[in-house]
Amino acid sequence: MSTILTITNLTKKYGLLTAVNNLSFTIKKGNVYGILGPNGSGKSTTLGIALNVVNKTSGDFKWFDGNVTTHDALKKVGAIIERPNFYPYMTAYKNLELVCKIKGIDTSKILEKLELVDLIDRKDSKFQTFSLGMKQRLAIASALLNDPEILILDEPTNGLDPQGIHKIRALIQLIASNGTTILLASHLLDEVEKVCTHVVVLRKGEKLYSGRVDEMISSHGFFELKTEDSQKLVSFLEAHPLISKTVKKDDMVTAFLKEPISASEFNKQLVNSGIFLSHLVMRKESLEEQFLKLTDNTSA
Ligand code: ADP
Ligand code: MG
Repeated sequence: MSTILTITNLTKKYGLLTAVNNLSFTIKKGNVYGILGPNGSGKSTTLGIALNVVNKTSGDFKWFDGNVTTHDALKKVGAIIERPNFYPYMTAYKNLELVCKIKGIDTSKILEKLELVDLIDRKDSKFQTFSLGMKQRLAIASALLNDPEILILDEPTNGLDPQGIHKIRALIQLIASNGTTILLASHLLDEVEKVCTHVVVLRKGEKLYSGRVDEMISSHGFFELKTEDSQKLVSFLEAHPLISKTVKKDDMVTAFLKEPISASEFNKQLVNSGIFLSHLVMRKESLEEQFLKLTDNTSA
């Protein structure tokens, strides 16, 4: 799989403040990446550096195989890192025509892109009549005019109503399904969970996690168990191949799962070993709990 962007030990300081701290990650072709972190965690700064609008302090980034200059590489990158801004009195179509003229690309794709973002019926409406969601979709059409390898979006659903949010997320998935790699920054966990295949979690400019979204959320949960003979239970759990960790507190035993198993199957195994429970609850930390734990200042 070919590499689109490689970021290596990137650091950005604003005076005494370290906005991005020794950050490394790789963007491969064909995936949808999220940079996830609370406000101020360095998401926009990271995107800005890769797009050459913010100067790095140290470290490196390289586009594609590293054999093209950033200037040339950015011709194959579509990015929206600010609020969409077009000429208010001009129509959607005319605005995109102007973008083509400025960027030196031909106008042949305008209708196709307006169709893609579901604005074809509004192509002759003035930009100022558009809702924020429509403006954002027009910006996406604009960023796609030259069929970039990667589309970069900074908080693409900020400020939109639920319908607008849904539309943008569906559009991002549609664009990705057409083969365009996507990198988006978001402070919304559920956005990343819904839209992205891969995630880089940032806190105060530092990477806490990077990898597949489904692996981040694939904690299989744990059982809360009570029985009269806790010692026998703990011995059973410690020898069990699917249990990664056992914690006993008062008369409650918590058993963390390495792999999924149903509560009834687990209970059957216990009964077969002569262990009879007075309490059995299967629990799973929500992704939100995991994320909050991950980005909590006091942990990690
Ligand atoms: P995010 O996009 O995750 O909200 P940013 O990258 O915008 O985070 O900001 C990271 C940190 O850098 C924040 O503490 C922010 O206040 C600071 N910062 C961003 N831009 C500047 C700037 N131009 N001058 C000084 N500090 C900045
Ligand atoms: Mg930001």
